[in-house]
Amino acid sequence: MRVCVLGSGSSGNCTLVATSKVSVLTDLGFGPRSLLRRLRAADLVNQRIDAIFLTHGHFDHISGVVGMAAQWEIPVFLTPGTLHELRDLDLLPRVEVLQAGVPVILADLSVTPFAISHDAAEPVGFRFEAEGVAGALATDLGEITPAVLPHLAKCDWLILESNHDENLVRLGSYPLPLKQRLLSPVGHLSNHAVAGFLSRQFDARAEHIFLAHLSRNNNTPALALESAQAALDQRFGNVCSPAIALHLTDQVKPSIVLDL
Ligand SMILES: [Zn+2]
Ligand SMILES: [Zn+2]
Repeated sequence: MRVCVLGSGSSGNCTLVATSKVSVLTDLGFGPRSLLRRLRAADLVNQRIDAIFLTHGHFDHISGVVGMAAQWEIPVFLTPGTLHELRDLDLLPRVEVLQAGVPVILADLSVTPFAISHDAAEPVGFRFEAEGVAGALATDLGEITPAVLPHLAKCDWLILESNHDENLVRLGSYPLPLKQRLLSPVGHLSNHAVAGFLSRQFDARAEHIFLAHLSRNNNTPALALESAQAALDQRFGNVCSPAIALHLTDQVKPSIVLDL
C-alpha cells in the first residue's frame, strides 16, 4: 500500500492511498495545478486516480473535487450529509453514498468510513485495508471518541490531526467564538489530545504516524512533533519509540511517500 499526504491544513487537504490495482484520493482541497505540482514533487505524477472519498464538506476538503472528478470522470464517495454540503453536484460524473461502518470495496482496497465529531453535516474518517496492510485517516475531529478507537487499532499507519497547541489558541489573536470552536468537541484535535491517545489508547502497532492539519497560527511543526514524541517516549521508553516514526505533513508540499 502506498500513502502520501499531498497537502494538509486549513487551506487545502488531500491524501493519496494506492495499491497495485487501485488508487484513491481522500479529499481534494486545492485546484488542478496545485495537485499536479504536488504529485510531481512526490514523484507520483503517473499515478492514475480512480476515485475521490470525502471526509466532510468544509471548503479546505472539497474545493477541487468537482473540477477534477469531472475531468477524470471518476466517482466521488461521500456521506448523505456531505452530499448536501456540496455545490455543482450536477457536474459530478458519479456520486456514491457512504454509510459509516459499511466498507466500500474497490478492486483489492477496502475503505471503511467511520463517524467523527466535527462541526460539519456528517463527517467521517476512513480506514483503508489492502494487501495485508491497514491504515486510518482521522482529521478534522474535536475529540477521539470511543467509537473511533477500533478504527485506529491494528493499523500499520495512521494519519492523525494535530491541529493546535491549546495555549497558543488561548493566548492568540483569534476572536473568542473561533477559539471556542477550535477547542470544542466538534472542532479540531490538539497536540495534547494526540499525545493523550498515543500515551493511553494507541496499540503501538503502527510504525508510521503522520501528524496532520497543523494550524499555521496556533501550532508549529516542532511543537506537534515534540508533544507526540514525548508521549511515545513516556509510554514506551527511548528504546522502543524509535521504531514508531512520526512524519510531519505540510500545507504546501507533500509528505514522504510510504510504501508498505
Ligand atoms: Zn479541514
Ligand atoms: Zn473541517
